[in-house]
Amino acid sequence: MNRFDYVRPDTVSDAIKALATPSSRILAGGTNLVDLMKYDVEKPACLVDINRLPLKEISETTEGGLRVGALVSNSDLAWNKTVQARYPLLASAILAGASAQLRNAATTGGNLLQRTRCYYFYDPSTACNKREPGSGCSAIGGVNRIHAILGASDQCIAVYPSDMCVALAAIGASVDVEGPNGKRSVPFHDFHRLPGSEPQRDNTMSTGELITSIVLPPVDFGINHTYLKIRDRLSYAFALVSVAVGLTVKADKIEDARVALGGVAHKPWRDEPAEEMLKGEKADTSLFSRFADTVLAPAKGQGANDFKIDLARRAIVRALHQAAAGTPQDQSNKSVQ
Ligand SMILES: Cc1cc2nc3c(=O)[nH]c(=O)nc-3n(C[C@H](O)[C@H](O)[C@H](O)COP(=O)(O)OP(=O)(O)OC[C@H]3O[C@@H](n4cnc5c(N)ncnc54)[C@H](O)[C@@H]3O)c2cc1C
Ligand code: SF4
Repeated sequence: MNRFDYVRPDTVSDAIKALATPSSRILAGGTNLVDLMKYDVEKPACLVDINRLPLKEISETTEGGLRVGALVSNSDLAWNKTVQARYPLLASAILAGASAQLRNAATTGGNLLQRTRCYYFYDPSTACNKREPGSGCSAIGGVNRIHAILGASDQCIAVYPSDMCVALAAIGASVDVEGPNGKRSVPFHDFHRLPGSEPQRDNTMSTGELITSIVLPPVDFGINHTYLKIRDRLSYAFALVSVAVGLTVKADKIEDARVALGGVAHKPWRDEPAEEMLKGEKADTSLFSRFADTVLAPAKGQGANDFKIDLARRAIVRALHQAAAGTPQDQSNKSVQ
């Protein structure tokens, strides 16, 4: 048992002060952090329980979008009536993840900062640059069936596991963070990072900062969206590959297109220049195939995960057809609240 202090601040500013303790960690739903502590991967000197902070609201923004407090649970967000009506892509992605019990405990902020599911990261007896910088990467040349095909480095080939964040990337959300140097808003594509030479850094947050809310801009996807998640089991499994698509279709033509991939890289993967080739066009298999080929042109397998490249190609085409036809993927566990 590692000893640690435990504090439960009532205000954001008190939480930020508590985070100044070296090696302190924020505790939200605890569904990832507590597991990591049990595995001896995380050994915080101080746990800052933020559950008393006033960050549990979903409210309208003046721009016509929504602000989601960092402590809104994944279930409350997915089943919120406004989210279901205006951001069904987000609701669908959340409901494709974990289990009902986990979604009840897990928070919006915690979901953004959940760690990779690389087996070696969870096993302190193995080399892992993300857990212990400079120790090596056991997944390269090791068991790497679930690992990255895009954006990996020679230091780390892990993937980022969240479903919710794939939808947030497609929606173009932003993340509000607050820390000792004040508040800032981070566009979603700048929030998570690729491993490069610093795989220990999952995102661009600085020490002492906490997420206060996620801001959803207004989007015009109507019925033309889908979250397609391909996994080994139909529920309670992380994505091998997932695709979030949001389209604006007018007079049979695609006016706007957003396509984000999950399970393939160290962050939700979007190729915005490639999305341009879909705009002004009619839904068509050869167009969707060319788009998938363009997005996956830099893809590189690690051996056991080579299958993911073709899987991603087919998933992109299928998801684009689902979205264009207005027949989004039904999440099998949607009836379980
Ligand atoms: C068995 C299992 C299956 C799962 N399946 C899926 C799945 O299919 N898809 C999926 O997307 N997820 C899945 N998850 C992951 C789950 O969604 C995450 O564990 C959860 O979202 C984390 O939220 P939390 O509030 O519990 O975070 P915590 O465990 O409390 O925290 C996670 C991390 O975020 C930090 N943190 C939390 N809140 C903040 C904040 N406001 N500001 C700054 N830092 C913060 C913590 O310090 C910690 O480092 C699964 C989890 C388990 C255990
Ligand atoms: S892929 Fe990343 S997380 Fe996994 S062992 Fe290598 S360095 Fe660690």
